[in-house]
Amino acid sequence: MKKMIVLLGPPGSGKGTQGEKLSQDFGYIRMSTGDMLREAARNGTPLGLKAKEYMDSGALVPNDLIINLMKEKIASLGDVTGVIFDGFPRTVEQADALGEQIEVDLALNLDVEDSELVNRLTRRRSCPQCNAVYHLDYNPPAKTGVCDKCGSELYQRSDDTEETVVNRLSVYRANTMPLIEYYEKRGRLQTVQGIGSIDEIFDKVKKAVR
Ligand code: AMP
Repeated sequence: MKKMIVLLGPPGSGKGTQGEKLSQDFGYIRMSTGDMLREAARNGTPLGLKAKEYMDSGALVPNDLIINLMKEKIASLGDVTGVIFDGFPRTVEQADALGEQIEVDLALNLDVEDSELVNRLTRRRSCPQCNAVYHLDYNPPAKTGVCDKCGSELYQRSDDTEETVVNRLSVYRANTMPLIEYYEKRGRLQTVQGIGSIDEIFDKVKKAVR
């Protein structure tokens, strides 16, 4: 069983959804840098305010901020059965920094084509409280605008607008896509086609983890 898992794939490929299901099924901790940064921004911390400047335009938050944040989080993990890294690393520099701290067992790459990603992201709604995500057509909440899991009011992330999504995809291609080769060279990569129902994809994801 793979214990240290990095989720790769463009924004909207299902890292959050599949990562959450993995975490529930296997009892692993899911660490999402995006969720951490949004929470910091909502709380108005210095890191959160700085990060928000980049996130709103779809740019990456500078490596040093992210690497320091994750170093601390990983160091304070204690005794865990496994970790799912969702949205980290996003650059080769971040991957090198992670590799100095832990050994990655599996880099799971969710492959989805661009036209599908734009649809998924612009029709996505998120819960600010528990970070659950929905899609207005494929995975709507039972009650419009309300989170099934915690009852909070859903919102559209400020970076899930069409204009910002296009920028996020090109940022992904320039900075994060090279990690596919990075982990392939290290014999850690598995690619799963991220198309189909959430459960169909999850079946493939589970096979890759075992
Ligand atoms: P996500 O929720 O993973 O889509 O991340 C949302 C935004 O947070 C990204 O577009 C970046 O601005 C920022 N972010 C999240 N993770 C990272 C990271 N590892 N490196 C740099 N920026 C990040």
